[in-house]
Amino acid sequence: MRNKLATQPLFKLSVPGRRGAVFPDSDVPQRPLDELLPAEQLATSPPELPELTEPDVIRHFVNLSTLNMSVDANFYPLGSCTMKYNPKRHERLAGLTGLVDLHPYQSEDRSQGMLQLLFEMQQMLAEIAGLPAVSLQPAAGAQGEFTALLVAAAYFRERGEERTQVLFPSSAHGTNPASAALAGFECVQMDKSKNGLVDLDALASHLSEKTAVFMITNPNTLGLFEPDIAKISQMLHDVGGLVYVDGANMNAILGVTRPGDFGGDMMHYNVHKTFTGPHGAGGPGAGPIAVRDFLADYLPGPVVTKRAGGVNPPVDSGEDETYHLTTPTKSIGRMRTFFGNVGILVRGYCYLKTLGAQGLRDVSDNAVLNANYLMAKVADILPTEQGKLCMHEFVATARILKQERGISAMDIAKRLLDFGFHAPTVYFPLVVAEAMMIEPTETESKETLDHFAETLHRIVEEDSEFLHLAPHEAPVSRPDEVTAARKPVVKWMSQK
Ligand SMILES: *Cc1c(COP(=O)(O)O)cnc(C)c1O
Repeated sequence: MRNKLATQPLFKLSVPGRRGAVFPDSDVPQRPLDELLPAEQLATSPPELPELTEPDVIRHFVNLSTLNMSVDANFYPLGSCTMKYNPKRHERLAGLTGLVDLHPYQSEDRSQGMLQLLFEMQQMLAEIAGLPAVSLQPAAGAQGEFTALLVAAAYFRERGEERTQVLFPSSAHGTNPASAALAGFECVQMDKSKNGLVDLDALASHLSEKTAVFMITNPNTLGLFEPDIAKISQMLHDVGGLVYVDGANMNAILGVTRPGDFGGDMMHYNVHKTFTGPHGAGGPGAGPIAVRDFLADYLPGPVVTKRAGGVNPPVDSGEDETYHLTTPTKSIGRMRTFFGNVGILVRGYCYLKTLGAQGLRDVSDNAVLNANYLMAKVADILPTEQGKLCMHEFVATARILKQERGISAMDIAKRLLDFGFHAPTVYFPLVVAEAMMIEPTETESKETLDHFAETLHRIVEEDSEFLHLAPHEAPVSRPDEVTAARKPVVKWMSQK
């Protein structure tokens, strides 16, 4: 089994007396510690630290680092998460001293470069969204949803409208209702759908003067573009409600269409997904939002603005334009310290500047092509319920495999780990039984997709009992996931 040693805590590998460094004897007079510190504050025994050599420690951590799946080492078709390759160039650029050593309390005149970068980022995101006003503050998609709903609430409050309901389809990501509830709205889930798409009659029956916002992911979590989206937006606007576009699936439509063009009033980006911030394992994200002009005044502050004239304090810079931090007049307040997760925004900025408009369009064209190619390759064993063309991802079902051979989506997902593949998203969206949500992204080659499809075919030929016990090669096989999440053991307890 690979890397078995790496699964042992350092404490277990400890051998008394082993050292990583040996120091020469002290050549200055020694004084007892209790002359320097109060005796009652001194420990009675040395700390329980592992005793190891430097190679022991290096091997431990290097091996440990190989236990995780990562986009740098493995194909990672985790649907909805857009685990595309993160170009290393962005890491280098984001690590430039001028950027990382900048202090957020530095004055505006000393931060003009960073402010310009953030200003241009706001502009690019506004352009891609088709929505003019942007806040870079939210730290993730979920916080972007929450922020936008607070913006909507402030807007309705100012208009004196008591709109209490947020609607979403049953295929929605769990963060949609969570954000709505947190923002104080009543969550209304629409259970009825038409072939995985929003059912207009069902939507109409839910709309009223209580409707505040309809949250819609487009393309939706089944990987299908909502063809009636313009009509849907019109229906919302007709009753005075707003349309929120969950932008987690922007990878499918960059430069093809824009949420603002199909009627969205607010949206979030997941910079860590669509614009290649390294993510997974809880790393920092960025979830900027873009909104229509009539919502701009409510955005969290500060936003970056540009104007002619000097910086603060006024120095005469002639006609030069300078960048400033400004709080919108009716701002809902801050959502995040300083300007959000700037490091991720910088990586996204580099990505957008590198690709340009045509490059972004190519991203989406290839993401959609890759997904359709893979969907066709596995359709005989893992069909989709809609069976049409997909966007940048598709939701296959192991329902028939389960019925006929007892092989579940979980069995396949776990067995994939033995072959060095990260598993797809499973059991989401909830509207598909035995769901396997597969998103290859545009950064994968045909060879990788072929190899993945062949591996899936090989797995479903295997003995079901054998599959129930997979993974067979991983250091941990099937942990109790609920207990692991609710009562994580994060500390090594010595056996004494
Ligand atoms: C990832 C995702 C979110 C939440 O975004 P985070 O950045 O993880 O908070 C919301 N909706 C959909 C459809 C997603 O895939």
